[in-house]
Amino acid sequence: MAKQKIETVREQIYYSYANLAMAHMAIEKKQEKYGMLNFMIRAKLFKGLKDGTMNMRTIFDDEKVKLQTGQICNYCGSSERLALDHIFPQKYGGQDNAENLIFACRSCNSSKGKKDLMEWMIYRDKFLPLMVIRRYLKLTYTYCNQNGLLDMRIDELRELQLPFKIDLLPTTYPKPNELLLNIG
Ligand SMILES: [Zn+2]
Repeated sequence: MAKQKIETVREQIYYSYANLAMAHMAIEKKQEKYGMLNFMIRAKLFKGLKDGTMNMRTIFDDEKVKLQTGQICNYCGSSERLALDHIFPQKYGGQDNAENLIFACRSCNSSKGKKDLMEWMIYRDKFLPLMVIRRYLKLTYTYCNQNGLLDMRIDELRELQLPFKIDLLPTTYPKPNELLLNIG
C-alpha cells in the first residue's frame, strides 16, 4: 500500500487518528494483527477526515468512554495515590479544564515528570491505552484549530514552543493484541 503523503499539521493529526481508530476496531474484533480490511478502513477514515465527511467526534462514542474511566490511573490502572495530571503542561498553555485533566497515580506522575506525554510513552517504551492517546490527539487538534496551526506545514511547527510535539504523534501503532483500549 502506498505510503500516505503527510505535509500539513492537519494531515498529521488525521493520519494518527485514522490509525488510532483502526487499532481500536481491531481490538474490538479481537484480531491479533492488522489485515487488508483494516488498512482499507484506515484509508477511508483518513480520506473522510480530510474531505470533511467525517470528524474526530463522530468516529468514537464519547459518553461510553467516559463511563468506563472511573477513578483509576489512566496510564497504568492503579488506584493508589491518585492525583489529577495535566495532559498538556500548564507551563506551555495547557488548560485547567476537564479535557486536559486525567487521573494518574503518584508513580506514573513522577515517572512522567515534565516530559510531554508522547515523549514519556517513548521513554518508558510501553504504549499508552488508546483512549489516552485519543485525548492527546483531540487536545492537539483543538489547540491547533484555536491557534490557526492546522494548515501549517509540519516543519513550520518545529520552531514554535507548543504544549505538544507534532513529530511524536503516533502514526504506527503496535499490533492489536499488544494494545489496550482502556484501563479498567
Ligand atoms: Zn499509574
